Amino acid sequence: MLNLLLKTPVEYLKGVGAQRARWLFAEYGIKNYEDLLGFYPQRYIDRSRFYKISQLSAAQVEVQMIGRISFTKTIDRNKRKRLLAHFEDQSGAMDLVWFQKIDAIERWLPKDLPVVVFGRLSFFQGQPQMMHPEVELFENYKKRAPVPLQPVWSISEFLQKKGLHQHFFIKIFQELLHLVKGHIYEIFPEKITSACALMGREEAFFQIYFPLSFAKLSQAQYRLKFEELFFLQLALLMRRYRHKKIHSGYPFTKIGSYLQRFYKEHLPFSLTESQKRVLKEIRHDLGQNVQMNRLLQGDVGSGKTLVAIMAMLMALDNGFQASLMVPTEILSVQHYQTISQLLKPLGVIVSLLTGSTSKANRRQLHYGLQQGQIHILVGTHALIEDEVVFKNLGLAVVDEQHRFGVVQRARLWKKNQRPPHMLLMTATPIPRTLSMTLYGDLDISVIDELPPGRKTIRTLHRYEHARLEVFGFFKDQIARGRQIYIVYPLIEESEKIDYKNLMDGYESISRAFPLPNYRIGILHGKMSPNEKSAEMARFQKGETQIMVSTTVIEVGVDVPNATVMLIESAERFGLSQLHQLRGRVGRGGEQSYCLLMSDEKLSSEARIRIEVMCRTSDGFEIAEEDLRLRGPGDLIGTKQSGIFNLRIADVCKDAPILTKAREQAVLLMREDPDLLSSAHREIHLMFQEKYKEKLNWGKIG
Ligand code: ADP
Ligand code: MG
Repeated sequence: MLNLLLKTPVEYLKGVGAQRARWLFAEYGIKNYEDLLGFYPQRYIDRSRFYKISQLSAAQVEVQMIGRISFTKTIDRNKRKRLLAHFEDQSGAMDLVWFQKIDAIERWLPKDLPVVVFGRLSFFQGQPQMMHPEVELFENYKKRAPVPLQPVWSISEFLQKKGLHQHFFIKIFQELLHLVKGHIYEIFPEKITSACALMGREEAFFQIYFPLSFAKLSQAQYRLKFEELFFLQLALLMRRYRHKKIHSGYPFTKIGSYLQRFYKEHLPFSLTESQKRVLKEIRHDLGQNVQMNRLLQGDVGSGKTLVAIMAMLMALDNGFQASLMVPTEILSVQHYQTISQLLKPLGVIVSLLTGSTSKANRRQLHYGLQQGQIHILVGTHALIEDEVVFKNLGLAVVDEQHRFGVVQRARLWKKNQRPPHMLLMTATPIPRTLSMTLYGDLDISVIDELPPGRKTIRTLHRYEHARLEVFGFFKDQIARGRQIYIVYPLIEESEKIDYKNLMDGYESISRAFPLPNYRIGILHGKMSPNEKSAEMARFQKGETQIMVSTTVIEVGVDVPNATVMLIESAERFGLSQLHQLRGRVGRGGEQSYCLLMSDEKLSSEARIRIEVMCRTSDGFEIAEEDLRLRGPGDLIGTKQSGIFNLRIADVCKDAPILTKAREQAVLLMREDPDLLSSAHREIHLMFQEKYKEKLNWGKIG
């Protein structure tokens, strides 16, 4: 039911008027009663409690007391006039202080009568005092039936300057709630309100502003958070649903000889259970007449590449081409080599396209793609350029997808008349509740185990003075035939210093590991792509034993014989980066080590990060810690997504409510995806009116 009363402009609310209405709109986008109802308090002051003066401590912020004012005096020292009132109760005495309107207040202050004093506590020379407190006769206080929990809004500086303080909001909300009583309808059907034990909608709005108790307040918060998260999830699910309705895919119905032969004759090892399950999910999707849009999450080293390869073979078996896009040139070369080697016996033609592919090669490659002679194209973002045209691209895989922008992924869609199936892979673990929101519009597959035989990487923290010992350990590892990465930070704003550090490091390592026994490679962003691949190839073949590098090796690089990762200035790396770097070792059957070298002086956050790394190698646990340390706003891609512009809920802190809301939204979509049933009318209207625009989040498409 569309409620016209709620659409009344706030201007008409008693105490607001045209001017203030303009300010409210400018500051908070509040136009009408309904908008105002969404301006939730930030916190509450417990006004049911009275303190004794002897109980006051710096731990309290706002306090309320009963006592009397025995005398006042004006002090006019240092040009700053102030009024002191001597306030006492049975337990002690303190000063109340005013700097403004002194004469009027002094005249008005009731003496030797019971008063209620409320205000912000401060301490002066160890003594409690209160500046500009509210003072009210106890008589009057009793009569007005005070609210036990007083709402406190976060009010912009601008509004405060214009004189719109807490009291203004208390007044207009009392007025507003009085007017709308009986006009706020329930929007959820009974099955949802009862399944989730939700407080009624109207009551929730009353209790959120003027709660009768903490218990009522928390029920009201639960209800309103649930509502907000429910619509967020509904918007995501709706997006996915509509997407599927619009974009029919190419059904890959055949299981042809490529996949079968690969599976039977060329699979280098048996698949893990997770890999099998994920492949089944992918195969199911690809068989439908609907475009697949699937996110494959799996910790570093969990074997996502193999899954991608087998999915690409499904495309080939059905007469389509496939592509694999990766974020760095090094990784593209590596994937190209792995894939062409694995698939050569099947006669699959794989090509590589990067920024440094020569013009002549490019021409040939474009031709081969258009003719369908090339089956699989591996490349960097060079492969989304317009002149790259496929004959019929059926599956586009994006590795380390979080490294790509929305636009880049979207351009893959245009590579065909109908968008190709999409498989997005990421090793950046995201806490489940967050991925429900961030990727709520994608289907998600998870590889949650590592291939068998992997030993847990031992992670150790070392300071500079232990360097000799560390180098001794390296020599021992090299003597056993192992290889070593040494990584230096490279952060844009201090690129020059970092480059110098890297070079100094390279030199001192060359001295400690001299030729001819030791051969050292180096990798950094200033090298040409060809130089980089040559260095990488030498390391891969075991021609160099130590690779000194910046973070260019962070993603994807796979050299199973490398067993040691030394991270220099580890305190300068974030948790997810440390985890990614550590993931470069521990890829074979040998015991691997990750050494975090740091300065003696560490910030408390850096210390926590290093401790977390030493404690666990579980990517999801690390992601949770990361989230705790940094908050959701910082997570990759979340800042611009608008997902976190919630009024009352918090996708991290309110994870349990989010899970419930998601469940209910899923049930609803299953039952009535177009929201046609009369039981869902209110939800439908609310969705149309307020949440539809959320469908336009700039994700894919
Ligand atoms: P990521 O998920 O980080 O991309 P990769 O695909 O690079 O991981 O795989 C990591 C390593 O594990 C590779 O050397 C790969 O050959 C190996 N691998 C993948 N699947 C299996 C498996 N089922 N059994 C054993 N080793 C595997
Ligand atoms: Mg990978």
